[in-house]
Amino acid sequence: MDQTDVVSLFRDIFVRRGSDSYLGEAVTMSEHMLQAAALAQAEGADDALVAAALLHDVGHYADEFSSYSPTDTFDKRHDILGAELLAPYFDHRIVVAVRLHVAAKRYLCATRPEYTSRLSAASVHTLTLQGGPMTPREIVEFESHAGFADAVRIRVWDDSAKVPGVATWSFDDYVPLLHRVLRAEN
Ligand code: FE
Repeated sequence: MDQTDVVSLFRDIFVRRGSDSYLGEAVTMSEHMLQAAALAQAEGADDALVAAALLHDVGHYADEFSSYSPTDTFDKRHDILGAELLAPYFDHRIVVAVRLHVAAKRYLCATRPEYTSRLSAASVHTLTLQGGPMTPREIVEFESHAGFADAVRIRVWDDSAKVPGVATWSFDDYVPLLHRVLRAEN
């Protein structure tokens, strides 16, 4: 699969599976991801961050990619898996932001007292499975990461992108932007 095909594949996934429920939230997967991208645009984020917001949960569609097997005996986390899926095709900054978006939630829970109270019930539930709030040592490590600021921004949009009935662009509207943030072919 080359760079152009991967955008078509994501488009196809959004169309076929966008109406999948989003882990107990009031919005569908595609509503959630399109809202996250819209929030990024509303804050004037650059192309890479808008793309990262749009694609941050693609790890939930891992079964669409050949790297996944239903007989896998280990649990791949959707943040890590999403980054793995994107890495061959997209700008490194996007890959890192997607990989760190769950860590950013653990970070925000540990550092911003008001943040946890704004999380949805489903997100509070998964926090425990994801390791709970970061420890002081993890906080220092996370803040020193080059992708730290991007990941926190993605996370805040992620948490806000759960409002039923919000009008957004369609996936097709983001296709030109996605083409701009593909990795240069080797
Ligand atoms: Fe999300």
